[in-house]
Parts: sequence; structure tokens; C-alpha cells
Amino acid sequence: MADSLNPTFRSDTGPAATPRYVYRFGGGVSDGGDTGHGGDKNLLGGKGANLDGMASIGLPVPPGFTISTAMCTRYYEEGQAFPDSLRAEVAKGIAHIEGITGKAFGDVANPLLVSVRSGARVSMPGMMDTVLNLGLNDATVEGLARVSGDQRFAWDSYRRFVQMYADVVLELDHGAFEEALEIAKEDKGAQLDTDLSADDLKALVATYKRLVQEEWGRPFPQDVHDQLWGAVGAVFGSWQSERAKVYRRLNDIPANWGTAVNVQAMVFGNMGDTSATGVAFTRDPAKGDRAYYGEFLINAQGEDVVAGIRTPQYLTKVARETAGAKAASMEEAMPEVYGQLAKVFDLLETHYRDMQDIEFTVERGQLWMLQTRSGKRTAKAALKIAVDMAEEGLISQEEAVARVDPSALDQLLHPTLDPAAPRDVLTKGLPASPGAASGAAVFDAETAQAWAERGEAVILVRVETSPEDIHGMHAARGILTARGGMTSHAAVVARGMGRPCVSGAGALTIDARQRRMRIGTREIDEGETITIDGATGEVMAGEVATVQPELSGDFGTLMVWADKVRRLRVRTNAETPADCRVARDFGAEGIGLCRTEHMFFDAARITAVRQMILAEDERGRRVALDRLLPEQRADFAEIFTIMAGLPCTIRLLDPPLHEFLPHEEEEFAEVARAAGVGVETLKRRAAELHEFNPMLGHRGCRLGVTYPEIYEMQARAIFEAAVDVAEKTGAAPIPEVMVPLVGTRRELELMKVVIDQAAEAVFAEKGRRIDYLVGTMIELPRAALRAADIAHDAAFFSFGTNDLTQTTLGVSRDDAARFLGVYVDQGIYAKDPFVSLDVEGVGELIRIAAERGRSTRADIKLGICGEHGGDPASIAFCEEVALDYVSASPYRIPAARLAAAQASLVRAAQRSIST
Ligand code: PEP
Ligand code: MG
Repeated sequence: MADSLNPTFRSDTGPAATPRYVYRFGGGVSDGGDTGHGGDKNLLGGKGANLDGMASIGLPVPPGFTISTAMCTRYYEEGQAFPDSLRAEVAKGIAHIEGITGKAFGDVANPLLVSVRSGARVSMPGMMDTVLNLGLNDATVEGLARVSGDQRFAWDSYRRFVQMYADVVLELDHGAFEEALEIAKEDKGAQLDTDLSADDLKALVATYKRLVQEEWGRPFPQDVHDQLWGAVGAVFGSWQSERAKVYRRLNDIPANWGTAVNVQAMVFGNMGDTSATGVAFTRDPAKGDRAYYGEFLINAQGEDVVAGIRTPQYLTKVARETAGAKAASMEEAMPEVYGQLAKVFDLLETHYRDMQDIEFTVERGQLWMLQTRSGKRTAKAALKIAVDMAEEGLISQEEAVARVDPSALDQLLHPTLDPAAPRDVLTKGLPASPGAASGAAVFDAETAQAWAERGEAVILVRVETSPEDIHGMHAARGILTARGGMTSHAAVVARGMGRPCVSGAGALTIDARQRRMRIGTREIDEGETITIDGATGEVMAGEVATVQPELSGDFGTLMVWADKVRRLRVRTNAETPADCRVARDFGAEGIGLCRTEHMFFDAARITAVRQMILAEDERGRRVALDRLLPEQRADFAEIFTIMAGLPCTIRLLDPPLHEFLPHEEEEFAEVARAAGVGVETLKRRAAELHEFNPMLGHRGCRLGVTYPEIYEMQARAIFEAAVDVAEKTGAAPIPEVMVPLVGTRRELELMKVVIDQAAEAVFAEKGRRIDYLVGTMIELPRAALRAADIAHDAAFFSFGTNDLTQTTLGVSRDDAARFLGVYVDQGIYAKDPFVSLDVEGVGELIRIAAERGRSTRADIKLGICGEHGGDPASIAFCEEVALDYVSASPYRIPAARLAAAQASLVRAAQRSIST
């Protein structure tokens, strides 16, 4: 229980010890502005700064003062004591309010009532919120009754004050007060608080005061100055409450920020039918339209709007008519005040240059502004408001670019669930690939394809996916897996395809034989409709309505502005012609990663790939490779044509073998047929190739080192296609041939010889040369550390941060989902390191590799192609270490362009500060 009513004061020593702590506002005064702080949030807190800001532009703000955050810091530095000088400063603040209102604090004839509120730099749950009507006591309540001519209003105000004060300042159990109110209502047979008469409320105040005496051991404070200091002390005290400390810890808010205290004259929206209270947004926070948006209640207090006891009325006539509501809008009921309010909205937008969320009160026809702050908005509204405001000349194009959250764009590019539609949520997995989709649940790729071919929407549900599922994933509207993290096969492939995906929904049990899945007690059979939301990870029963994205208009405009300020190039991770087209439409400036093993996923080719992998010797492999060569060449030719003249990084084969080995009998039979060997021989070979840790196994360039003919075939396909396209279209592609999973210079040296020889052979055969580069992925810590050495043979580095994260953290990218959630909850990692780069660890390696690579080859081209290339925070880091480009899956390109532009703006601002 708090004892804040007896504050400790200490005498100030010397002039330096008495800085100013109280800042007045209202009635033509705005001390915050006078001191040059101009509504400084750090000093006055968010609420105080905005009150001061409103006062400074002449808006009707009830007069008041703010005790600064610096006082809070000093209060704790001095063992929870106030300096003596604060007494005089607060007295001056009260005198300011008295002077403007003509009322006096504690005066029986015309009492001044104030509100006391906390206000940190950022709004903080867990802090003392609000005390209203402070200044009422047994004597002043009579004065209020006389002045207002309303006994009931006066006693209701006193009743509310005692209850709030007991709760938030004295920290007494508020249950007892609620109960007393309920009993009073029951005694009177009253339904609502408003049914209680002045006498009932008078009796209730007496009960409340008795409760205070019993619980607190002292009478309810009658001295208004004691009341005020008690409330001020309670605000500062709440800064160190357990709830506030927890909130600060979770949100990285330093303890020395402190909170401010705002003391302000009360105004009343419940003084009859010419009084009202309301909340408003200066633009529509859902759609972003330039229309005032809000609600109000006549003869009510702010809490009545929030409490939902009475149905609020619309602000504007248009809104009322659109909603088909009967009760008059404010525009109709109070046209004059509404006109003033509309002017205030415009002034506020001009001053703050952003959409505002506002609270106001009308007291007997006089408008008062109680609060303003930047309004929360949907992604769609954020985009529209930013573009509109730039076009209106309110903000610059750069500011518009900086204001839209890139991750929100993801939401806008895919169909999203209609927020108004009801949802029957079954479970939640990881939000692996954005967008929402509904369809019949199917449990294998063949069914997915067959049903899709007959025109049905399906969701492919698998324990986890593998390359054999690709055709099913393509056919499905969305993918749901029970296992696998954000970089699992399902997640990576789905993002690449732009299919919504929820991965790692651990509560899901799939019985593929029975064609059924189970979540707790719920069962979903094959064919039953489900919906997944890849942006939230939710899995729902039945169909949920969606809304379609809009790619032109505001979206297009913002993208043009972003591109003007962006330094980082943005490429795409893509390997199919369809993905390449989508990526170009979204503005990709080349390919940053073409995973050639994904080009083998096609059902017609996978057998040849398996034949190649399972071959006993080079001859066997060459037979399979000869079958693959023309197919690869045709694929590359199509990609080079779509990407006309842009750089295309083609990565040589990097198949984690377990993803490619056959599992089912019929798969073995098919490969055996194609290779002309027995099934048993194949099975033996597959058993030989089995790996305990395939991600660290015979993959990447290790395959090229042991079987160079594989890389030779791929290099040949690349160069043949490139020369053909150059000849046919006149736009020579720039192939960048990339070697995966390099750890040592020697590996790259060997592979470069294979690639260069293939190039020379093709150029000689075709009688035409084209430019190309050979480079490597940096995805192993050793490669990052030895970058100076490796750069001798690499014209470019592309950071493969999926594997680099896996190998630096020693955390399996496929198994991490099982425990990473707990790690993030416990703050071990701030975010999933497979989603947002671990800047401290993996970032350090990137920094080292970039520096060392450049020390050998100053113009080495540097990019990133792990999943982090589409993550805004990771992109900011890429700008910091001055990479040349980021590469992201097609649907993440717009967000990457925007994030890259924002990163450029931040860097430019940092440079201008440091010079
Ligand atoms: C990586 O490791 O970051 C990468 C892009 O390669 P993959 O995801 O194919 O292993
Ligand atoms: Mg990799």
C-alpha cells in the first residue's frame, strides 16, 4: 500500500541544483516551446509534449502544467525526495491554471478541479494512469454543486474521484468500491449509475470514505494540496512498479528516461446537452481515406465512450448515413462546435504532419482538446496516408518512404483475410509465407495436383515437404506443415512460389493413410475446407473470406519514390520462369540466387537427378547428365530472356542429398528402369549414401569436387544458353556462376578451372564470347574468416545466411522451430535468427568477410541471398556494411526495395550528423 501523501522535500543547494522542472501550457502559454524544446517528448513525455504543442499553435487546451521527466530521474537519484524548489514551481503552475479559469484550488466558492496523469516518452502500460476531479472534498463539492447548479453532477464527480484516488494513488482494493456501488444500485433498484440520485451518491461517498479509513487506516485526504502531492508521488512511484519494470525490460526502455506528470484543469462533457465527449482520427485509420472518423457522446465523460455502456454517435453526417444510423451525428447535432473541431483537425495535421488520434470534450458549448498523438493504422491506410500527405505537400517524398513499414507491404501484396470475417481457429504454426488461402485439405502431392487439375482449390498438408512434393505445392493454393521452421523446405519453396504457407504447426497430427488430420479433439478429413493465414500462422476450419491486393496506385507511387533514394540493388531468388516474371514485375534488378537443384524438382526430371546421384561411377553419371543438359540449357535460356541483360547468379548444384534420394518403392523402381540397373543395387547405393547429418554432408561444392562432371554439365548449359540468348535477342545476359558451400580457397580454385574450361569450350564451339563472373557463396564461418584468400579466385561473394546462421550458431535450420520460440521468449535471441539476421554474431562474420574480401579485391561484388535478404532489419545491416545488393524471393521484392530505401535514408541522416 502506498504512502505517497507525505512527500519528502530536500532543500536545494546552490543555483545549479535548481533547474526548471515545471512547464505550463494553455491560455496562450506554452513553456515547452519557450525553452526551445517545442514539445520535446524526452523532457515533457509524450502526452505533455503534445499538450504543449497544441497550446503553442493556439488550440483550446485546458490550462495546466507538466512536471518534467528530469524531475522523475532526480526524485529517484535523491532517494525519492523532491527538491524544495519544486513546491514553488508547482504553486506557480496552479496559479497559472487559476488565472485562466478564474477558479481557485481548494476554494469553496468556485473550486478548481484538476486531472493528474502520467506521461512517459512512449505510452507505457503499467504506469499510473489518471486521476480525475482532484480538488474535491467535503466542502468544495458543495461549491461545485452551486456553480454547476447540479447537485447530482457534483456528488457523482466526488464519488468518482474518491474511487479513483483510492485505487490508483492509495492502491486500495478496488473490488470493495465496486461492490459498494453495486449495493447502492441494488438498494435503489437502479440499472445504471445514472439512475442514482444526488442523495444516493452522497451516501455512497460516505461509504467510500469509510472504506478508505478501514483499509488505509487514515481518513480520505481533505486538503487539496495533500491530494495533489499524493497523486504526483504516485505517478513517480509507479515508474518503479513491478509492472512498469517488466514492460520496460520487454521493450528496451531505459529506467533513466523517467515519466512526466501532467496536471490540467478539468473540463466536463457531462454538464447537460450542450456538453459532449469524443474520440476522433483525422483520417480513416482502416482505409486511409481523407475523411474525419470518430465517435462522440452527448452529456458524457470520456470513460463512458470507452466503457461501451451507451452507443456512441458518429462524428460526420456522411459516416452516419453510410452506416444507416439514426442518432444525429455531431456535424448535425452541434454544427458550430463540429466546425471548430474540423478546423482543429486540419491545424493538427499541418502541425504534426501526420494522421492524429484525438480526444476532445465539449463543456457547455466550448470545445477543449484533451489529447493528440499519431494514430495507429492498418498497412493499407499507412500506405495511402503517406502517399496522400506527400502529394498534399504536407511531408516530403522521402518522409513518405520512411513512414511505411516494409513488412506491412507483404500483407498488401497477397490476398489477406477479411478482418470482418469470423474465424474458427484450429491451431497456430509459423507464419512462413504471407498471404491467406482456403481450400480442401489434401495429404499428398498427387492428390493436390489431381484435384487442382479438375479445378478445385486445395491446401497441401504434410508433416514436412520434400522435392517430390513440388508439383503438389505448385498445384495447391497454400501449404501447411506440422514440422519445419522458417527456412525449412516448405517455407523456402512456398515463399519462392508466392504460396501462402504455415509451417511447423506442432499441434497437428497427420494420418496420411486415413487421409485425415487431427488437432486436439478436432478431426479434418481429406476434402474438408480449411484456411491458412501465412501472415499470422493461423490455421482455421472452413473458408474465410479474403480481400484482394492492389498493386498500382499508391503502391506504385511509393515504390517509385523508394527507388529514387535506394542505393542497394534488389535482386530475386528465383529459378522458374514464372517466378522470374513475377520478380521482374515487382522490380527485381536481376537474379541473386538461382538454386539449380530446385530446377530438378520437376517430376519428369527428378528421376534423372536420382539416377545421377545414385550412379556408381562417372560413366553412369554422364549418362544421366546428358539427359539433364538440354533441359537445363532450355531453362537457363528462358530465364536469361526474361531477365534481359540483367545479372543472373546461377548457383551450381547444392542438394542436401536426403532431399533427393528416393524413399518409396515405386520411386526406386522408376530410377532402376531409367538407369537400367536392379532395384536392389539402387537400394544398396542409397544406403551407402545415407548421411547422419546431411546439411553438413556431401553437398555444395563437395559434390563438384568429387564429381566435377556435374558442375561441368551445368556450366556448359549456362554458357550455351547465354550465347544463344545473346545471339537471338541481342541482350547478352551476364551469368554469374556461383559455387556453394566453399570453405577453402582450393575448393573454389578447382571449381573455377572446371567452369572456365566449360566456358572456353562453349565459346570456341559457338564462335562467340560473352562476359561472365565466377564467384562463391560465403555460408561457412571458415569461408568468412578466410575471405581475403578466397577473394583471389572470386569476383563476387554472396552471403548465404541460411547456412551461415546454421553453422555459426550450430543450430539446425530444419529443427530449430522446436526450441527457438522459447529462446526468443527468454530474450536469448531478440528474433528468430533464421528470419532476422543475428547481427552480433553472423553479422560480425559478414563484416569480416566483406572487409577481408575487399582488401584483396577492392571491387569485389557483395550480395546476400539467404532468406534475410528480404527482411527489413537485415537489409538495414546490409546497407551498413555497404553490400552491393540484396536478393529476396519474388513476393518480398517490394518490401526489400522499400527497406533498402529506408536504410539509405538512415545512413544519409547519420552521415549528415557526423559531419
Ligand atoms: C543459404 O544458405 O543462405 C542459401 C541461400 O542457400 P540454401 O538456402 O539453398 O542453402
Ligand atoms: Mg546454403
